[in-house]
Amino acid sequence: PATIGIVGGGQLGRMLAQSAKQMGYTVGVLDPTPQAPAGQVADFQIQAEYEDVDALMQLAKRSDVLTYEFENVDLEALTQAKQYAALPQGTELLRITRQRITEKTFLRDHGIPTANFAAVPDAQSLNQAIAKVGYPAILKTTTGGYDGHGQQDLNSPADLPAGEALASKAPCILEQRKTFSRELSVMVTQDGNDQVRIFPVVENRHANHILHTTIAPAPNLSAELQTQIDQLATTIAKALNLRGVLGIELFETAEGIVVNELAPRPHNSGHYSIEACNFSQFDAHILSICNLPIAPIKLQTPAVMRNLLGDDLTKARAAWSKHPEWHFHDYGKAEIRPARKMGHITVCEGSDLLKAVQLEGDK
Ligand code: ATP
Ligand code: MG
Ligand code: MG
Repeated sequence: PATIGIVGGGQLGRMLAQSAKQMGYTVGVLDPTPQAPAGQVADFQIQAEYEDVDALMQLAKRSDVLTYEFENVDLEALTQAKQYAALPQGTELLRITRQRITEKTFLRDHGIPTANFAAVPDAQSLNQAIAKVGYPAILKTTTGGYDGHGQQDLNSPADLPAGEALASKAPCILEQRKTFSRELSVMVTQDGNDQVRIFPVVENRHANHILHTTIAPAPNLSAELQTQIDQLATTIAKALNLRGVLGIELFETAEGIVVNELAPRPHNSGHYSIEACNFSQFDAHILSICNLPIAPIKLQTPAVMRNLLGDDLTKARAAWSKHPEWHFHDYGKAEIRPARKMGHITVCEGSDLLKAVQLEGDK
C-alpha cells in the first residue's frame, strides 16, 4: 500500500503510525523533536518545525496521503501540500475546528446546542461580552489552547483584570460556564462509502482541566441521550464531509447534551478503543483517510483508561508487574514534565475497573 505522512509526531501520531504500520502502510512524520514519539515507530521522520513550509512539502512529496495529529497546522501550507499528496480531511474541517469561534458558530448553525458565547477580540471588548454571556463564564483563547491552557475563569467582576490580561495577549472567546452532571465524548468518522461510524459514548473525568480517566461505555446513559448524541454526531460528520476521526466533547446537563468542542483527529478519550473495540480510533482514522470501508464499530468489553501524567509513568512502570490486567502504554517522550501526558493504562477485566487503574498516592 501507500505512504501516509503525519504532520505532528506526538502520542496521537505515534498510535496512528502503529495502526498504519500494522495495516502495511509506510509512515512518515514531520516533527521538530528528535526521535519524536511518532518518529520512533514511523519509517522516517523529517525533523523540522511545523511552520517549515519546505519540510511540509518534502513530507507531502514522499507521501500519498497526508494527515495531521493536531489542529495548529498552517492552513496555507497544507493547501500548497495538496499538489503533492492527497489531503482527504480537506482544509475546511481544520479551518472550522482550529478556532473556537468558527467551531461554535458552525455548531450553532447546524442546530447543535453549545454554551452561549461572545467574541472577545481584545481587552476592550470584554465588558460587552460579559453583558451578553453573564457570570460565571470562561474566557478562552480562540486558537492554540489544550489541557485548559489559555483559559481564565470569570466568576465575578473581581476576575475582570485577569480576563483583560488574557484578552490583551490573544483574541478570545467568552463562554457561559455550563453546569453539567458529567462530561462525555464520542468519536465519529465516515468511511470511504460515506457511511458514518460512531464509537461508543464514554464518560470523562478531568483533574485540573486535564483528562484523567475515561470510562467506556458511559455508565447509565439514557436511551434518549444516546439517540441525541448519535444524531448530533451524524449531523456533524455529514456537515463536515468528514474523513478521519473526529472527537466530540460533550456536557450532560439537566437540559440535555451540550457540545463543548471538536477535535478533527484521534482524541485522548478514545484510547480505550485500542483494546476494547473491534478496531481502534487510530485504525478507523487510517481506514477513513485511505477511503476504505469500515465495519460497524463494536465495544467488545467495558474499559477504563487512565492517563499517566508526569511521574505517574515511573510509578506505573514500577507497579506494572503487580497488575497483569493493565494494558500499559509509554509514549516514548524524552523528558518527563509535570502534567505532561507520558502514557496511559487501559483495563478491561475485573469487577472494579476504576479501582484497577489507581496508582499509589491517588486520591
Ligand atoms: P482539551 O485538552 O480537551 O483540548 P482545552 O484546553 O481545549 O482542552 P476545553 O475542553 O475547552 O479546553 O476545557 C477544558 C475543561 O474545562 C472541559 O473539559 C470542562 O471541564 C471545562 N470547561 C470548558 N468549557 C466549559 C464551559 N463552557 N462550561 C463549563 N465547563 C467548561
Ligand atoms: Mg481543546
Ligand atoms: Mg476539551
